Amino acid sequence: MKKYLLTPGPTPLPPQVRQAAAQDIIHHRTAQFQKIFTEANQGLKYVFQTQNDIFTFAASGTGAMEAAVVNLLSRGDTALTVEGGKFGERWRELCSAYGINTEVIKVEWGKAVSPEEIKKRLNSSKKIKAVFTTLCETSTGVTNDIAAIGRIVKDTEAVLVVDAISGLGAIDLKTDAWSCDLVVSGSQKGLMLPPGLGFVSVSPKAAKLVASAQSPRYYFDFRLAKKALDKNDTAFTPAISLIIALNQAINLLKEQGLEKVFLRHKKMAEATRSAVRALGLKLFAPTAASDVVTAVKVPAEIDGEKLVKTMRDVYGVTIAGGQSEMKGKLFRIAHMGYIEEFDIIVCISCLEQVLLQMGYHLELGKAVAEAEKVFAKKE
Ligand SMILES: *Cc1c(COP(=O)(O)O)cnc(C)c1O
Repeated sequence: MKKYLLTPGPTPLPPQVRQAAAQDIIHHRTAQFQKIFTEANQGLKYVFQTQNDIFTFAASGTGAMEAAVVNLLSRGDTALTVEGGKFGERWRELCSAYGINTEVIKVEWGKAVSPEEIKKRLNSSKKIKAVFTTLCETSTGVTNDIAAIGRIVKDTEAVLVVDAISGLGAIDLKTDAWSCDLVVSGSQKGLMLPPGLGFVSVSPKAAKLVASAQSPRYYFDFRLAKKALDKNDTAFTPAISLIIALNQAINLLKEQGLEKVFLRHKKMAEATRSAVRALGLKLFAPTAASDVVTAVKVPAEIDGEKLVKTMRDVYGVTIAGGQSEMKGKLFRIAHMGYIEEFDIIVCISCLEQVLLQMGYHLELGKAVAEAEKVFAKKE
């Protein structure tokens, strides 16, 4: 059975990336690897849209999130976190694991955080040293307005931390222009790589906190990473194959150019949303819908988990279900990374077939046609 992967991580691998990852292992303390690593670091700066240092760890995205927390803060410090989904919650959980106090902005799932609310909290509590946010809240399919949040946090003592694990390389995130102090990402989403690399960019404003933070840290210590990076090196054995593959993935992004890559994601998202609406289904996040993942409410008469399972096991089309409190109540179609127009058409067609089988009333082909209409529109 031919397989299609439309989940918000991991995402499919382009053949060029697979080939790059399959090359012979070379030793990392060599001029040969240093050249590859230098290219990777320059390429990451292009994707992050930054001049800041970017540290690369052999870890999943959450490892890089943990690195952000331990390198900025100390036990007893106060941070502001935004919770509008599972990944926003992770910031609070990470902080509490290290004895860092959190003030939490609760956001209704499916909505974006109001930048004004962040401003209010920063004004009323001068203790806040860091603001932890999420570019795309993958659990709800919402994109937050990081540019607006950046304009607010920039004028305070606090640093802005952005979880861009889902979204980087697929939707716009201007690290420098939007004053994002720490941007965290991972390999297996927009970057079209296998899981296993975590990235963090660090601004000069954040570097001051890195020097004074007292949280316990060893592998993720940015001071060690910086010392090594300044010599085009890594403190520990890097995930060599993934870094070789990273260069290939970044080359693909450069070939298309970030602007066109963002536009492709925007169109796929628009097509997916139109298709879903044509089926009479409701978007979970109609106002701040993300261009990398579309979350859809499962109609009351349909078993959401069975829908996802049937698409995967019977038809080979893997989408994601809902997480935590939305388990069984949502399905999520990712259009991120190495996904193109016809992958979306396949997915929508499969969705129609399975919904029909499950007794949902629909007209076959209508949703596919709506998606096609979006793709047929000329710019
Ligand atoms: C996937 C994801 C994570 C977690 O990354 P892992 O690589 O699974 O550790 C964190 N935040 C967001 C927004 C994500 O989409």
